[in-house]
Amino acid sequence: MTAQTLPPAGGPRSLRALPKAHLHAHLDGSYPLSAVQRLARRRGGSFSVPRSFGDVWEFFDAYGTVPELIRTHEELAELCRALVHAEAAEGVLYLEPAIEPQLYAPRLGSLEQVTLTMLSSFREASRDAGIDVGALLTINTDEDLAISTDLARIAAKYAGAGVAALGTAGFVEPGNLGRFRHAAQIARSAGLPVVSHAGQTGGPESIEEALDELGARRISHGFRAVESPRLLERLAGEQIVCDVCPVSNVALGLVPRLSEHPAPQLLAAGVPVTLNADDPLWFSATVTDQYEVARGVWGLDDDALAGVARAGMLATGMSAGTRLRFENGITEWLTRGDES
Ligand SMILES: [Zn+2]
Repeated sequence: MTAQTLPPAGGPRSLRALPKAHLHAHLDGSYPLSAVQRLARRRGGSFSVPRSFGDVWEFFDAYGTVPELIRTHEELAELCRALVHAEAAEGVLYLEPAIEPQLYAPRLGSLEQVTLTMLSSFREASRDAGIDVGALLTINTDEDLAISTDLARIAAKYAGAGVAALGTAGFVEPGNLGRFRHAAQIARSAGLPVVSHAGQTGGPESIEEALDELGARRISHGFRAVESPRLLERLAGEQIVCDVCPVSNVALGLVPRLSEHPAPQLLAAGVPVTLNADDPLWFSATVTDQYEVARGVWGLDDDALAGVARAGMLATGMSAGTRLRFENGITEWLTRGDES
């Protein structure tokens, strides 16, 4: 450890103050709890988060209750803005929320109308909060085959104008991504990267499927890459980012405990890893909490934590100005150990 990177005299550096990119956060699972509770009260009910989930299906059932609470565009806008402000308070300089307008369209209008409400709310709040937001417009690969090209066309239409990437998410891995090749092609032709959930429930072959079938440049989760040395080498060589979510993986029983999470092995293999909350509303853990896990449970020092934060800069949606602020902020964090 160099003199420059010694922890500041006042104690460990604040991880909230470390500039971060939050690249794997599903909008509907990331609204601030207080904002959701306010909305539930307006509906004459209440909202609370279960202490744990019996299994992943129980989680999916619970997950759907939040979009159903939202009945107007203004309510959706209010929650989107609240999310951006909450993330800014966690030291997030670039937020890439995974949006699924298809969860709201049945009540609020067309896929494009819902998307526009989300994008304009993000734009307004990002200006106020002083951070960048780029939406990761996401296809649910378990359910959205019929509308996948519609979603990809909307993503392409707003590429660089609020949409930063096309995502795929689904619990069934691998075996079905080939059906989304056309959607991925539409997005890639518009200059958008494809970001795929893989290596969460499925093994290394699910990650290879995302890379080979969809041309994915980032993998949401990806921790099961550690089962294949050959794949680890490929991810490191091609600098494919794995947007890892340790607390979520343990909460859903996909990894037995935080101390056994494979993220340190990914890092040791040279794979770019970012830390993310997945669904902070449901798992009661912010993006900063994931960094606390990396420090407290995995033993990463501040240089390594800064390296994880820096991997977030591989996300292409970040503006040049934010990129510079991000890099400078990390250097400053390491040298000064800002406790603000
Ligand atoms: Zn996810």
